[in-house]
Amino acid sequence: MYRPLCAFACRDILSTNRLACSTTNHEDKAKRHNDQVEFETSAHCYAEDNVYLLSLAQCIETHCSGLAERWELDRFWALDAVGSQSVQPQPAYAFDEALQSAQNHTDEAGRLPSVATLHGTLTIVSEVSGQDWQMAFSSISDSVYVEERHSQYGILLIVLIIVIPLAVHLLRLVRLPTLWERKTVALLGHSALFGKRHAVPLPYDLGVVPTRGQAAFITSMIVLNLCLLLIGYRVAEPNIYGQTASYRFLSHMANRAGILSFANLTLMMLCCGRNNLAVRFTKWSYSTMLLYHRWIAHVCIFEALVHGTIHFIHHIPYLAHKFTQAYWNLGVITVGLMCVVVPLSALAVRKRAYELFVDSHVVLSFFVVLGCYHHIYMKFQHEWGYENWVYLAAFLWAGDRLLRTVKLLGGGIRTAVITHIDDEYARIDIPGVKASGHVYLYFPGLSWRPWQNHPFSIAASVHESISSDDHAYEETASNEETGSEHQRPLLAEKADDQNQLGALKRESSSSSLASLLAEGSGRSSSTALEKPDVTPWPHGDGQSGSPQSTGLTFYIRRQRGITAQLFDSPHQAVKVLVEGPYRPLPIPNIAACATLVCIAGGVGISAVLPALRSHCLVGRSVLYWGCRSQALVDAVDMDAFRRAGVEIHVKINARWIVHEIVSEEARATLPLGDVIVLASGPNEMADDVRAAVVRANLTMSHAGRGRVRLVEESFSW
Ligand SMILES: Cc1cc2nc3c(=O)[nH]c(=O)nc-3n(C[C@H](O)[C@H](O)[C@H](O)COP(=O)(O)OP(=O)(O)OC[C@H]3O[C@@H](n4cnc5c(N)ncnc54)[C@H](O)[C@@H]3O)c2cc1C
Repeated sequence: MYRPLCAFACRDILSTNRLACSTTNHEDKAKRHNDQVEFETSAHCYAEDNVYLLSLAQCIETHCSGLAERWELDRFWALDAVGSQSVQPQPAYAFDEALQSAQNHTDEAGRLPSVATLHGTLTIVSEVSGQDWQMAFSSISDSVYVEERHSQYGILLIVLIIVIPLAVHLLRLVRLPTLWERKTVALLGHSALFGKRHAVPLPYDLGVVPTRGQAAFITSMIVLNLCLLLIGYRVAEPNIYGQTASYRFLSHMANRAGILSFANLTLMMLCCGRNNLAVRFTKWSYSTMLLYHRWIAHVCIFEALVHGTIHFIHHIPYLAHKFTQAYWNLGVITVGLMCVVVPLSALAVRKRAYELFVDSHVVLSFFVVLGCYHHIYMKFQHEWGYENWVYLAAFLWAGDRLLRTVKLLGGGIRTAVITHIDDEYARIDIPGVKASGHVYLYFPGLSWRPWQNHPFSIAASVHESISSDDHAYEETASNEETGSEHQRPLLAEKADDQNQLGALKRESSSSSLASLLAEGSGRSSSTALEKPDVTPWPHGDGQSGSPQSTGLTFYIRRQRGITAQLFDSPHQAVKVLVEGPYRPLPIPNIAACATLVCIAGGVGISAVLPALRSHCLVGRSVLYWGCRSQALVDAVDMDAFRRAGVEIHVKINARWIVHEIVSEEARATLPLGDVIVLASGPNEMADDVRAAVVRANLTMSHAGRGRVRLVEESFSW
């Protein structure tokens, strides 16, 4: 940008002069952008005007010696001498020709007959005074300095926001004494910033209280943005722009805010993608990423407002003119759209009208990105590369959408078999698909919005029981620092076990499913049934001999939207599209933990079953399940888990006292090793478990070498 500066300094002084071919600006003075400009000079005029070209060549010759290479001057002459538009005429003379002609006008001392002034009239070939050139040079070099900081700080912001979580993740490799580690995890990692609420929203659904770890990240992100907004400016006095230092400072800050806002747009897209690399590398949960997405979005909008407000105030005398310019209007509309997104994404709306939130969010975000691009394009075309920020954000957004589509189409159209358990719960089976973690289900036949989709945890997939599900948790574990040594033999043992396992007896017999599938006439599903994929389940009875097909099982609770439509559907088999799979819960080092304590509420059981199934082979696994429905408890086949050694405790219509459970389990296990507490259920229960885990880590100071870790599955975000 602005290289070589010495030549741009010459251009910026001479171009403030009126030329013979300049045209008078007849517009009302109040409507003009800059009240100093009473004439306009086109690129054609600059390209053809002898006086301008010769004066420019002479100025470059005088002031650029030793400051720029010859090729730089030639490039400047070809690309920037008459302006910096992407499409513009070439100067009438080459640089050498112009210089030779200019030198015909010099006296014996090599001086031109006249000296050009700022905002004067250029009628004869003139030189630029050293004083004016110096002023222009320092003004431009300050502008270049600030422009370079804009892009460097934008890049720095993106890099730091990506690197900080990775660095925090790597901190886990540092082994602290157990006592310190417990306290750090409890006080920084798991505790809510204040009080006990984290999953339970604040009163009136004002928002959620982040954990202290999350709050530390959010605070760093805000402080980083503020620092990058406030530092790295230079404003020369006097300057050729005829503006005060404070005016220049604020203009630069407005532009910095614009660039940082663009950088945050990219970070927002990075955090909200379902195919989120950050989740993979940091092991932070997707709901944490969505929390960051929201906070980054607030900062992004704040910066867009700073950008708009400063420019608005600076242009108050010329507003009538500005509102006739497309780039200005688009900027105003785009910032307006950003502001509309905020109330439409409030927790109160998300809870009450999730579909309105999602649909409006996607549409508005699309127009915001489009608006940002056109705002830049209409102002600068592709001259300064600002559009690259928007490309980056759009690339991440489109990339995620593309991957979602690939995952969706890869699964093909399937048939979901609905089995009503009672008025509140149902089981859904989708034969012919294997996956672990959670998937997004689309029921195009049930809703007038075929794109509507919702996440559901895979409670079981015959294939998942050992191979895919274990694989998912092994992957999590193998990335962990500790345990990798002693974990390998455990996993090897597991593989041996696996060979001897019997088949899992599923609740729905293949034949009943087959008849329902025939009703649903799912081609791919029936193919799956014709070629059963038999995968064994540990300690299963192995006697039934009934073949099992690959298939996903979900337990769902009736809500008001698509789940209610599923319950009310007159058909027992409906068309479904499966997008996924998405990773299971990131459970740190599950294979090496001595005890896995799962505390589930209601349909939250779905998310804990795969973890139990995987852990019962390598350590003690306990389930505490509170459920209002005996029918749901009966529907989930717990016998196989019991046979596999899982300790199962169920309460119907009563609550577990979770702090007693956690402290008992911690007391029993900590002398041997780590306890992982996996909570999946209502928000109140999740917060109770969180508080209990914090308390256990803080109070059991002498209870051996283990730690109590919390993993939470949240069924809403
Ligand atoms: C990772 C994950 C796994 C889940 N697994 C299960 C499961 O196994 N069984 C089960 O019954 N439920 C599960 N849920 C919750 C389930 O996705 C929602 O309850 C379901 O989308 C509600 O559909 P609805 O249209 O009937 O809800 P509505 O009546 O429209 O809304 C009910 C509540 O669910 C929230 N919600 C609605 N849609 C979504 C969505 N797409 N994403 C997040 N929250 C939403 C709303 O904000 C509202 O608070 C899971 C959620 C997540 C995030």
